[in-house]
Amino acid sequence: MTADVVFVGGGVIGLSGAWAAARAGLSATVVDPAPGRGSSWVAAGMLAPVTEATFGEEHLVRLLVAAAGRWPDFAADLGSATGTDVGYRPCGMVVVAADPSDRSVIDQLLGYQQRLGLAARRLSGTECRQLVPALAPGVRGGAEMPGDHQVDNRKLVGALLEACGGAGVTFVADRVTAVVTGPDGAARGVHLAAGGDLPAGAVVACAGAATPLLDGVPPGTFPAVRPVKGHVLRLRGPADHPLLERTVRGLVHGRPCYLVPRADGRLVVGATSEERGFDTTVQAGAVHALLDDARTLVPGIDELELEESMAGLRPGSPDNAPFVGWTGVPRLAVATGHYRNGILLTPLTAEGIAAVLTGEPLPPPLDGFGPDRSTPTTAGHVR
Ligand SMILES: Cc1cc2nc3c(=O)[nH]c(=O)nc-3n(C[C@H](O)[C@H](O)[C@H](O)COP(=O)(O)OP(=O)(O)OC[C@H]3O[C@@H](n4cnc5c(N)ncnc54)[C@H](O)[C@@H]3O)c2cc1C
Repeated sequence: MTADVVFVGGGVIGLSGAWAAARAGLSATVVDPAPGRGSSWVAAGMLAPVTEATFGEEHLVRLLVAAAGRWPDFAADLGSATGTDVGYRPCGMVVVAADPSDRSVIDQLLGYQQRLGLAARRLSGTECRQLVPALAPGVRGGAEMPGDHQVDNRKLVGALLEACGGAGVTFVADRVTAVVTGPDGAARGVHLAAGGDLPAGAVVACAGAATPLLDGVPPGTFPAVRPVKGHVLRLRGPADHPLLERTVRGLVHGRPCYLVPRADGRLVVGATSEERGFDTTVQAGAVHALLDDARTLVPGIDELELEESMAGLRPGSPDNAPFVGWTGVPRLAVATGHYRNGILLTPLTAEGIAAVLTGEPLPPPLDGFGPDRSTPTTAGHVR
């Protein structure tokens, strides 16, 4: 049977898009050799439009703020569809400085964030330690972002897989090598690495950082997305006596660092940012640097178990913003380039994918985030 739409890639973007498409009445197939085990599995799960806001990215900040607003309903919807609590936790964040120079950087960014009208306030060192007693005595103050939250990205992946299954989404455990086009140049399915074609009414390319590697379409069809490597660590402590109640981000002698506490006592520590192509090797130096920075801010991590170290590939785009919409190849859409904020952008991107596939306008926050950085047309919709 020919599916209405095939999704190439089953990370949070492909899975949430397929779930949204199925809920909109389309038959959807996800092709992925290891769904949910890409960047979406490695991520820290921060939903942080304010702490991610940086100079010159006002358009992205508006998108991130809108995305954050979608999260409470999205988490509740997933919860009712699957019975899974995805760990959406409105815990707020504190950003702290290890030295006076870090403090000055945080202050400058804070001024910018406040000028944009974002919820953020300056804190002295004492105020930081009142909010987060586990902070090191030497912390030089910082800022509080009460509206930046978190979700457990691994529970999210599990819930999306289950929700897709429940909504009738089909899974094919294979790798797509190429988009298949017809004599009219329009996408009409995908070619599988194991051999054979999978026909479909439309194709959504959402293979994260690997999206531009897909063959079968003219050069330049896919936007310039590249892998940006990030190491993270997972530490484990007692659930009944957590070290942190809210996320701590910080600058340690110029290096960014974060510690994201989960409800079960685990702590996600991240992250490096490296341009190394498709390499996901875990390197000793990166693990050492992350632990060193994290214990400079929160010395108590020394007592926790080092449970896991991993590296993932963020799908980076030239302007750090995602691409969602139809490409120049009819019936071929793309959803990638979510870079550091793919978990945060999941609900909004899913809405956008369902909208283009059903011929509806994109949700307004996504205007201007098409592959050609103009508002995508609705041409090529499935229904
Ligand atoms: C260290 C780190 C920390 C992060 N922290 C956060 C955070 O706190 N908050 C946040 O919002 N974001 C965070 N991110 C970013 C976030 O993880 C990504 O933006 C998001 O997961 C991208 O989702 P995706 O579905 O596009 O890609 P992925 O999750 O990478 O999924 C792509 C999928 O495509 C599949 N695939 C690839 N090629 C093919 C092919 N040819 N055929 C079929 N399938 C294919 C892969 O197997 C994979 O499952 C972080 C990322 C990293 C690396």
